[in-house]
Amino acid sequence: MNPSRLQNRWQQLPEAEIRSLQAEKLRRYLCDVVLPFSPHYRELFRKQNLDAGKFHTLDDLQRLPFTEKSDLLSTPEHPERFKEFVLTPDRETLAHRPGTILRAALHGRKQVENELTAEFRPVSMFFTTGRSAEPLPFLLTRHDLDNLTSASRRLMEICGAQPEFRMINAFPFAPHLAFWFTHHAGISFGVLTVSSGGGKVMGTEGNLRLIKKLNPDVIIGVPTFIYHLLHQAVEENVRCENLKLREIACELGAQNADVLATYGFTEAKLAWAECPFPHDQSPGGYHIYPDLAVIEIVDQKTGEIVPSNHPGEIVFTPLDARGSVVLRYRTGDYIDGGLVYEPCPHCGRSMPRLIGKISRASEIREMNLDKLKGTLVDFNQLEHVLDDAPHIGAWQLELRKANDDPLELDELILHVQKTDDTKDRQLIRELTERFHRQTEIHPNGILFHEAEEMRRLQGVGVLIKEQKIVDHRPRINDGAAKNLSPPPETKIKPELAKIL
Ligand SMILES: [Zn+2]
Repeated sequence: MNPSRLQNRWQQLPEAEIRSLQAEKLRRYLCDVVLPFSPHYRELFRKQNLDAGKFHTLDDLQRLPFTEKSDLLSTPEHPERFKEFVLTPDRETLAHRPGTILRAALHGRKQVENELTAEFRPVSMFFTTGRSAEPLPFLLTRHDLDNLTSASRRLMEICGAQPEFRMINAFPFAPHLAFWFTHHAGISFGVLTVSSGGGKVMGTEGNLRLIKKLNPDVIIGVPTFIYHLLHQAVEENVRCENLKLREIACELGAQNADVLATYGFTEAKLAWAECPFPHDQSPGGYHIYPDLAVIEIVDQKTGEIVPSNHPGEIVFTPLDARGSVVLRYRTGDYIDGGLVYEPCPHCGRSMPRLIGKISRASEIREMNLDKLKGTLVDFNQLEHVLDDAPHIGAWQLELRKANDDPLELDELILHVQKTDDTKDRQLIRELTERFHRQTEIHPNGILFHEAEEMRRLQGVGVLIKEQKIVDHRPRINDGAAKNLSPPPETKIKPELAKIL
């Protein structure tokens, strides 16, 4: 079997061949790259008495324990834990590899040194995002950036982009995957790309001016910010005939609009996309590049692999990463339609696809919000509880303690923006009933806000994800309540200063 088929035919292989080629690639990756150079995994394999050379099928991957975000957090004994996950090559080992010796003989020593530097020396760094946990640095080498570039080009291909397109990257500028992946996607695919930095850098006005000037075919960004931007565009009578976004884009004069979701996270150094689909059908899911990662779906409680098409938590293992490497990484993201391999009904590509809605369970788990007002609450459900409620636009749930006293009762305040002139009293009654029906909890208060204030509460245009649930309950040891929507700069800058 030819392992390069996985890379060359990434969008047209059947399940059995994908899984067998992935198993082969995984074994080589573990034996030649991860175990010799990753301090964390070398130790883990030793402790667990595991032999990567005996990983013959993808099922063998299940012998490896999961890695969780908490494993990367520093402790007093391990003050720089994240470094233990960075591949740190050892000159001796590299120099004695048969491949190195052969290449040096053919191309000269200098060339081989340059290649190894490109493969292993970190040249870029992203930070993980999250509502409550400290951002963690994730290092990328030139090799990673090459993979990121080719993955981002594939993402554009899957989205149905054309070289003559013009694109605005409206993600907030930050050392996060979303902004940079999108930037590279546009440039490597070869479309005219403007990375505006979102609302944080140019403001809504600046982005609107850019839309007027560029007449873009594609706008990529945080959904709530794009929604806000297009609303403003409609209000100010901006025309944008090229835009491929539905409904609201029709108001801007566009005829054929698609709204496509992408999914990615810093630890993957990758993102995946949906392909265009007919407006009256369900999307074909996130198309996963089989040569760059293995995705497993596991039961959140037992950690067991669930069958194809079953909901569960997304677990990620890279097949070609350098720099920071995590194996069997529990994303904490829950996908409700699971993983499938059959050809996509819309584009016909044959590759693994993640189907359905994704809930970010991890951030909620980190917030320890299993109990609210004494009732056990399913927070996956809570994140979507008001998504399709009538008469309201943006919304946010705020958890706080009565009188800001950590020993007091939990309070749940619902912040909403009305989109029509429904009477306050009627809407409060409807929302309270809806909320109680789905969660068995009555909110303590419902507050109405103007769009502007709602955007501020959610961090739209400033944060990489809109904040739908915020926890302002002071912890007994903290003393102070957590800041409302802390600007990301203040979180990241001291951290950057420390590392650089
Ligand atoms: Zn498709």
